Amino acid sequence: MIKLEKPDMEQKDIIDVCIDNLKKEPTLSNIKRSRAFIERKSSTYNTLGERGELGKIPVHSKVLGGATKDDMVWIYDKKFVRDGGRSYYDKIMKIPPFARCPFCGVRRVSTLDHYLAKTEYPIFAITPNNLIASCADCNKKKSNLVYKNREDELFHPYYDEFDDEIWLKAKVMFKNEILFEFYVEKPENWTDEKYTRAKNHFDKLELNNLYISHAAEEFSECQYSLKRIYETGGNDLVQVELLDRIKEHRSNMKNTWRAALYEGLLNSKDFFDIYLGGRSN
Ligand SMILES: [Zn+2]
Repeated sequence: MIKLEKPDMEQKDIIDVCIDNLKKEPTLSNIKRSRAFIERKSSTYNTLGERGELGKIPVHSKVLGGATKDDMVWIYDKKFVRDGGRSYYDKIMKIPPFARCPFCGVRRVSTLDHYLAKTEYPIFAITPNNLIASCADCNKKKSNLVYKNREDELFHPYYDEFDDEIWLKAKVMFKNEILFEFYVEKPENWTDEKYTRAKNHFDKLELNNLYISHAAEEFSECQYSLKRIYETGGNDLVQVELLDRIKEHRSNMKNTWRAALYEGLLNSKDFFDIYLGGRSN
């Protein structure tokens, strides 16, 4: 879960480019009548986001002034994504460093996600702080989630900081073959609410499965060198190597599946006794 810079853009400018050359009625008239409200709510969104209160926004199907859900979804699809708003779309897509999806921290961004789904919260269909560059899988898994309470709210890359403590952990077991399991461990300094949110996010986006598949590949690539190190210096030298790799993979972010994997290996009795110790054959 990667914290991002908020988009540096104004709601009114986005509405301007989206209705420029728009002839479709009654969409144009509806949006014009609703624009003051959309602008006001865009600013409210930011205030609530800063306070961690986005979940208080009720699901709705119309925007005050006259714009309908269909108008808002249409304006996003046809004008924001494909027409005048495209430069804003592209600018938001470029926010994540290394084009890394902020929700899973692994896959590349390929779409914009509405943190509050446009079908459930249409007033925020073109609100910049509600638009987050994401990978297609996370976008699909988030789908049209509705947040009924704070604990339900997934990680919001513009408002939440989840990398302040180490919480991503991995268990490594050996049962005929090496097995991995990733999970969220509650850091001492976190509230129960923050822990539940992280766990919810982790479960809803099925991050365990994603990290397991990457871990299996990483392990298949590094097992040769770890075995060589074991043959040279035994458990002690393997531990030094693993500590070094953990440090390296935590140098930019505290929570990465690689750091969790190497820490999981370091703490795995199975890995040292069965896998390296030769009792696997
Ligand atoms: Zn993702």
